[in-house]
This record gives sequence, C-alpha cells and structure tokens, in this order.
Amino acid sequence: MILRIDRLQTELPPPSDPDPIGASAVQELLGGKYGEMSTFMNYTYQSFNFRNRQGARPFYDLVASIAAEEFGHIELVSTAINTMLTGAAGGPPGEAGDLSGVKGTRNTQQFIAGGAGTMVQDSMGKPWNGDYVNATGDLLEDLTFNFFLETGARNNKLKVYEMVEHPAARALTGYLLVRGGVHQVAYARAIEKLTGADLMKMFPSPRIPTDKIPECQPHIKRGEHLKLYRFSPDDFKEIAAVFSGPHPETGEDLRIADEIQPEGAPPFDLPPQPAVFAPAPEPEEIAQIATKLRQAAGLPKEPTGVVANNGQGVIGKVKDAIS
Ligand code: MN
Ligand code: MN
Repeated sequence: MILRIDRLQTELPPPSDPDPIGASAVQELLGGKYGEMSTFMNYTYQSFNFRNRQGARPFYDLVASIAAEEFGHIELVSTAINTMLTGAAGGPPGEAGDLSGVKGTRNTQQFIAGGAGTMVQDSMGKPWNGDYVNATGDLLEDLTFNFFLETGARNNKLKVYEMVEHPAARALTGYLLVRGGVHQVAYARAIEKLTGADLMKMFPSPRIPTDKIPECQPHIKRGEHLKLYRFSPDDFKEIAAVFSGPHPETGEDLRIADEIQPEGAPPFDLPPQPAVFAPAPEPEEIAQIATKLRQAAGLPKEPTGVVANNGQGVIGKVKDAIS
C-alpha cells in the first residue's frame, strides 16, 4: 500500500501568463512513452510482480521506493500543466466566445474533455498505454530497461526545457532532470553490483551535465542529486546495499536520505475556471456547501489543508495571483 502526503515534491511557481501550447508539449513528460506515467507504472508493476523478493531484497527495495517517488512526479508534471492552462479559458460560462481563445490550441481536449486540466496523453494527444510497461520478471532485464527508460526520460526533459520557456515548465524540468539523474545512477549501480558491467562510464547521459542548467542548481545545492528516499517510515531500508559509492559525474558520495520523503512544498491552490465548469459553472455554490458541511462535522471554520497561498486561497481572491 502507499501513503499519501498533500505536498508537492518541489516548489512550483504560481500561475502567470497562460501557455496552453507550451502545456501541450509538457504533456510528453506525463503521458509520453518516456514520461512519468511510464516510469511510475514500470517500477510499480515490476515491484508487484517481483518473485523471491526476500532473496533479492536490496533490488526489490530499490525498485519499490523509486516507484513511490514517481507517483510524486506525475503529480508535479500535472500541476505544471494545470498551472500553464490557468487563465487560458477565461470569463463566465455560457457567453459566446469564452472559449474561442483556446480554439487554436494544440490540445483542445484539455478544455473540452477536461476542465483546463492535464490529460493522460503525450504531446500529440495520444493516450498513455500499458504497452509502455516492461515487467519481464527477469531482474537484470528489467533493471537494464529502467536505466534506458530514465535516460530517455532525461533526454525528453532536456528537449522540453529547451522548447518551453514558461516558468512552471522550467522549474519542473530543472527538478526532474536532477531526480532522474539519481534514478539513472541507481539502476546503473544495481546492474554493476549484479554483473560487474560498468554503466557508470556512460555518463553524462544524455550528454548534457545538469550543472550547466540554471534551474537544476538549487536542487544540486541541496544535495538532491545524491539522495534516494524510501517513502516509508520503516520499510525499504536495504536500498543502502545497492545505492552507495561515488556519483559518476561529481565523485561525491551517494546516500540514503535521513528523511523518508523530500520536504517538498505545498501546492498553489489553482483558481476556478468557470468557463470550463471547473470545479463548477458557479464555484461559490460548492464552496458554500463545503462550508456548511464543515461546520456540521465540527471541523474548523477555515479549511484545514495547507496550500501555498494560504489565507487567500478562497475562491475569487486567487485571481490576484494571475493578474
Ligand atoms: Mn520521474
Ligand atoms: Mn525516475
């Protein structure tokens, strides 16, 4: 089973100028063949299907804990896309022309099928599918595939970084490039421990070191390029048997994080988009019902959840952030 924490793994900026065309490119990092849905589901199913896990415990722990991190990555990519779509379809619902501004965008489904929201699709609108999952049951084959998958994922992130200038896309790719680098190293080291094959000689891969990318720097300064998280209070401790030794690019020591998950940051409470009925054509009605239910349940008057814009997260006031 999995625990859920209502925080993003890293801070993303609030909505600024909408960029629906940029958001359609970022979709590749969510639902593309090398996107976060693929990394998440590959490691998740490899861990579900893992036989004789007691006999191979350090490797099982490695795949299982990286799977948990990838859940947070699909959340981050979705949040970046939703941030970029915020404000693209403005105005009250039912008025002619409200959605005319997004008629020419590349992924109209984000507005027609969704409420200015992420689709589980790639940058061409093609749905993610389970054929992207490679869980052969052969540990060495799966680890080799995972190394290749992380390399392809970083390649695609670099290209999206170059293609899309929106601050949410840049913050997203800066973080994911660093964390994807850790996963590449983890799988390379696992293969090395199992067979002696030195995949470390393949670095940097893709051939652009993250120390050349400004948006990677804050994460490198905090040591995020060296740490693996377990995402569990007590389990998956045997990753330490595989994830150790020097980082192939910097020579610094790899280590298991003391904290079970990244400190992260609260998400920005994205404002309603009434023109696409998200969360309703008249969001105030739902907010009033929620307030009454909260009172009837004996909960505090103010919402208990934590968002980045706490104190002004109530409907309407968030508009300040995008104006
Ligand atoms: Mn990832
Ligand atoms: Mn990864």
